[in-house]
Amino acid sequence: MTSTEQNLYIYNSLTKVKEKFTPINEGAVGMYVCGPTVYSNVHLGNCRTFLSFDLVFRYLKHLGFKVRYVRNITDAGHLENDGESGEDPILKKARIEQLEPMEVVQKYSVDFHTVMNKFNALPPSIEPTATGHIIEQIQIIEKIIDKGYAYQKNGSVYFDVVKFDKDHAYGKLSGRQLEDMITNTRELAAQSEKNNPQDFALWKKAEPQHIMRWPSPWSDGFPGWHLECTAMSTKYLGDNFDIHGGGMDLKFPHHECEIAQAEACNDSSPVNYWMHANMLTLNGKKMAKSTGNNILPNELISGENTILNKPFAATVAKFFMYQAHYRSVLDFSSDALEASEKGFNRLMDAYRSLDNLATSDDSSMDISQWRQSCYDAMNDDFNSPILIAQLFEGAKYVNTIKEGSATITANDLSLLKTTLSNFMFDVLGLVDESATGNNDGSKLVGAVDLLIELRNEARANKDFATSDKIRDNLQEVGIQLKDGKDGTTYSLN
Ligand code: AMP
Ligand code: ZN
Repeated sequence: MTSTEQNLYIYNSLTKVKEKFTPINEGAVGMYVCGPTVYSNVHLGNCRTFLSFDLVFRYLKHLGFKVRYVRNITDAGHLENDGESGEDPILKKARIEQLEPMEVVQKYSVDFHTVMNKFNALPPSIEPTATGHIIEQIQIIEKIIDKGYAYQKNGSVYFDVVKFDKDHAYGKLSGRQLEDMITNTRELAAQSEKNNPQDFALWKKAEPQHIMRWPSPWSDGFPGWHLECTAMSTKYLGDNFDIHGGGMDLKFPHHECEIAQAEACNDSSPVNYWMHANMLTLNGKKMAKSTGNNILPNELISGENTILNKPFAATVAKFFMYQAHYRSVLDFSSDALEASEKGFNRLMDAYRSLDNLATSDDSSMDISQWRQSCYDAMNDDFNSPILIAQLFEGAKYVNTIKEGSATITANDLSLLKTTLSNFMFDVLGLVDESATGNNDGSKLVGAVDLLIELRNEARANKDFATSDKIRDNLQEVGIQLKDGKDGTTYSLN
């Protein structure tokens, strides 16, 4: 990499400005991203956040950094209501489905990995679990108690936010003032065993029915949600590391509490660059598990949903997401996806035609300058929409060469190809579905549509043996035809 290519700026949510990225250890980057709470299938909103950080991971690697990327699995401690009260959703699911909690965890961890694979997201370097780090979490609680920022109540341990705020200022990341929070929540205080409503649990004594429990100096119980990320990030990346990421909705209280825990232990800020990815919305509202306002990756790929007009490949949905900057809200719709699909195909067509381009003695476009503008886009806080606009410029150039109204030298053609390949496949992680034969969703739709058409013809000819055969044999392979007043549709069993 040249020095201009490595000139990366990152928007730091803590300081609220773009800052030049300088890692703590030259050439190496430590990055922690909050992973999923594994009690249900990840929806496309969750995927957007993880894909935003996949882009960061890929680009840092592309720039030549040695990246240790830690993304956890939350398999305990994340209670309802911002992790603070109510039931543990993993236990709730286990109770409803009559499964072991670890069966729930396994089922949805596997789903998460399968989905990330479909999006061609790279696995993180370490994927630690909360339940695998109970000892580390207990050690941090002991340290916080020693420093005087936590207190015990009936076997539970709470972080003393009021005391911490006096010495360190609580609310730096979210820009909230403790006095305002206290004013807004005064009436709730009486219901809790906490000294102040803003205090948060580091350790919770388990009720008898809470079966995920561990021994500790305070009680048989389980750790608070915010603690696991402090324990796992610092264990693998050190007390001060480069990048911490997560969805925008985790800024408060989760990340604010992580900062408080780490500062209470070490008197210093744990993270140099805080990054927050913005939300994917559906019908203008945040996609969320709890409200049902979401669409699952499998529903996108199979076309089995009530939102989209047709199935889409995962790579197209990813391209659609990257056409917005990770810090912007993005609304999901069939029209927007269809537009992205056209753009995606245009880009792939241009890339595929590179091998057949004729070369000349000179080039009509300055390829080095264009390549630099691709880096400039990504160096400006991972601005993927600008990068994609630059890639379209490259594709346009390819098409004009094909038409004979522009020229390119052999050297420039090679640089053009490398640059397109670097950014399309290594950095954005797109997949040429037609080359890999991966677009099963749209292939299936094409094949089933053809069979429905043949069945309609058979029925019109009163050839019921054939029409029944088509229906029954499809049923045998798990495809159910449904005859309705608007024609025949199908579903996958
Ligand atoms: P959870 O499993 O609920 O802890 O969420 C996993 C990740 O998905 C977190 O980083 C959330 O911030 C993120 N997330 C949840 N909903 C959305 C959404 N609608 N758009 C983007 N990211 C989301
Ligand atoms: Zn976290």
